[in-house]
Amino acid sequence: MSHNIINNINRVSKLFQPINTLPKDAVIKSGVASKSYNLMLDMGIIRQVNSGMYSLLPLGLRVLQKLEALVDSEMTKAGAQKMLLPILTSATLWNRSGRLKTIGSELFTVEDRHKKLYVLNPTYEEAICELLAGIIPITSKDLPLKLYQISRKWRDEMKPRLGLLRGREFVMKDLYTFDTNLENAQNTYNKICESYDSLFKQIGVDYVKVIGAAGIIGGSLSHEYHYLSDIGEDTVLLCQSCGYSVNSEVLNLSSCLKCNNNLSSHSAIEVGHTFLLDTKYSKPLNATFLDGPKPKPLVMGCFGLGLTRIIAAVVEILSTNEVLRWPNNLAPFNVCILTPKKGSKEEIAAPYAEQIFGILNELNVDTIIDDRIHLTIGRRMFDANRTGYPFIIVIGKTASNQNPMFEIHDVKNSTRIDTNIEGIINYFNNQDINREIKQNEAVV
Ligand SMILES: [Zn+2]
Repeated sequence: MSHNIINNINRVSKLFQPINTLPKDAVIKSGVASKSYNLMLDMGIIRQVNSGMYSLLPLGLRVLQKLEALVDSEMTKAGAQKMLLPILTSATLWNRSGRLKTIGSELFTVEDRHKKLYVLNPTYEEAICELLAGIIPITSKDLPLKLYQISRKWRDEMKPRLGLLRGREFVMKDLYTFDTNLENAQNTYNKICESYDSLFKQIGVDYVKVIGAAGIIGGSLSHEYHYLSDIGEDTVLLCQSCGYSVNSEVLNLSSCLKCNNNLSSHSAIEVGHTFLLDTKYSKPLNATFLDGPKPKPLVMGCFGLGLTRIIAAVVEILSTNEVLRWPNNLAPFNVCILTPKKGSKEEIAAPYAEQIFGILNELNVDTIIDDRIHLTIGRRMFDANRTGYPFIIVIGKTASNQNPMFEIHDVKNSTRIDTNIEGIINYFNNQDINREIKQNEAVV
């Protein structure tokens, strides 16, 4: 579909992206806790509002929306249905599950004018069980039932830190599954783990799946998905010979339980967690189904993915102290076109920007034009590189030749080719990168 419309968000001159300009002789801080967090602030991707609370500015929201599209696609394939529960849940429910006490001061609560207490949910086991408890009768032919949402969750962290990595407000995908018995629930559990693997492969940054700690959620079986990173607050133990892996909170071992080889210890960022809950919540909260004459508690699983945390973690892993880097299919835009500077010789070639934009749009390549023509190409190249667009197209000196040529910079691989319009079409039509950067479009 052709939609050759350049909106404000597709022009850097109009885009709301408050960049902190570095003085020329600035020394870039190294060794700070999270390099990507500082860069995301500097490049106008996010903005801190309160301790542990962030605004996602237009570029940041684009990244989140791309990740959400990948998650939605995987959830749909796994047979899950998307819904949305209220942010507030009555504290009475949290009392019934026992978690009002066990989570305690990490829960954000609010009181309404009638002095009724509500919880800003960090997770929704109580709320989803309450929903199903009110629907009678659920029968075995309605099962398995898989319901998920993507929404903001809240946790009153003692020490919010590292930006989106440990915020007090965060965006999480939470899925709840309901089955007739433990065996079916285990099958559902395995299927969802497969869709998590598929999602993490599409994001394209190496991850590990380990035996997890049940923590405050509980249940009989649990796995965690981690990115290995020095700034991670978890420690995972990995066996290089058989692949056995476990969170050190579950078992603190020096040798592998399966093959007895040495385990290596790594700092890691937990970004996903799966639990087979059995009837831990469905029983006290009366979420039942009819099997014969008597109602039985539903057998439950729950599956979380910290979306804002995934973004923070992958960017931290891919970036350097100087430049942001994104997985290609999460980058806020895939291509940035730099137009000629005002008053330069090649200024007459400026209309090619819109032509190339239109072509890329038709190829479904997500593109932005840096039309701040009062700035040099070099300065805009610096910003585009720092923001982390995977490809930069420069309409430079050779663009005003009789046979106009343009520069395509592959930012991640630090390579450059010079080519004409035809060459640009081929470049973005043929390469593997295209499969990668267009994956999102197929989803939406
Ligand atoms: Zn082993």
